[in-house]
Amino acid sequence: MKEGRIIKGIGGFYYVDDSINIYECKARGILRKNNETPMVGDKVHFSILNQEEKLGMVEEILQRKNELIRPPVVNVDQAVVVFAITQPEPNLSLLNRFLVLAEGQMLDIIICFNKIDLQQQKDYMWMVDIYEKAGYKVLLATKENSDGIEKLKRALCGKVSVFAGPSGVGKSTLLNQVQSNIHLQTGGLSTKNERGKHTTRHVELIPLNQRGWVVDTPGFSSLKIDFTEEAELQYCFPELRSLAGNCRFSSCLHENEPSCSVKKAVEDNLIAKERYESYLQLLEEIRSNRRY
Ligand code: GDP
Ligand code: ZN
Repeated sequence: MKEGRIIKGIGGFYYVDDSINIYECKARGILRKNNETPMVGDKVHFSILNQEEKLGMVEEILQRKNELIRPPVVNVDQAVVVFAITQPEPNLSLLNRFLVLAEGQMLDIIICFNKIDLQQQKDYMWMVDIYEKAGYKVLLATKENSDGIEKLKRALCGKVSVFAGPSGVGKSTLLNQVQSNIHLQTGGLSTKNERGKHTTRHVELIPLNQRGWVVDTPGFSSLKIDFTEEAELQYCFPELRSLAGNCRFSSCLHENEPSCSVKKAVEDNLIAKERYESYLQLLEEIRSNRRY
């Protein structure tokens, strides 16, 4: 039996990449009987039915690490959250929301600030500082600068990555550059037809030369934070997470409680005010979701 990863599923066929070949597989009936539907991203054990024609049979689905809903893909390692430094103007509370969603799925995260050809360094470094201070890895890129692209390629190596971010920030342009076999339509039309309606597409993992895969569809098309517990939220902010247990009350939500290590860190400028404010806003959002 061999091990591989499902990179595409169409009409009951699953395409399994064992990092040398791609096999067209069906799934054993027993899987369906047990309600185990193979998903794109699944690591599987499969048997080879015909080596010549690369045909196989998925025998077993290995345990999943996580499951994204939109796009429907499992076992994603990493999110590359792309924002432009301008055009469109970056909305940091939206960026923080993308980060929380990715943290909630236990993804490694890279923030990529794109279009740095459009501003001077001094005009965008404050944003880089906010996120580096929070503990994130930040890459700077433009479509013209091969250094940024090389760093991005290295960061994608050996992992399954999903790109995320608002439309128009340059996600498709970046993907086209990290891999010559990717040809996504740029200019914001990639997932819409000419009437502007979203077309249904199959999600697919694109194998990278340098090992690893990227999900061909941007992640987190729904930005709803659907946590049930307010206390979960702080674990989706690395700079708050790292202070866990330092407040007077173990149940501290870092709002108005006395002797709060987080509020102290905000006062001392160790945690960025913008990040803390997003935290408070999202906390409020979780509460108001619960009221319904
Ligand atoms: P997506 O919606 O995030 O996939 O964004 P696209 O890749 O479609 O890019 C949106 C627009 O931004 C296109 O017109 C690109 O040519 C442009 N663009 C992408 N990257 C850069 C960049 O690094 N610098 C500049 N100036 N424009 C860029
Ligand atoms: Zn606190």
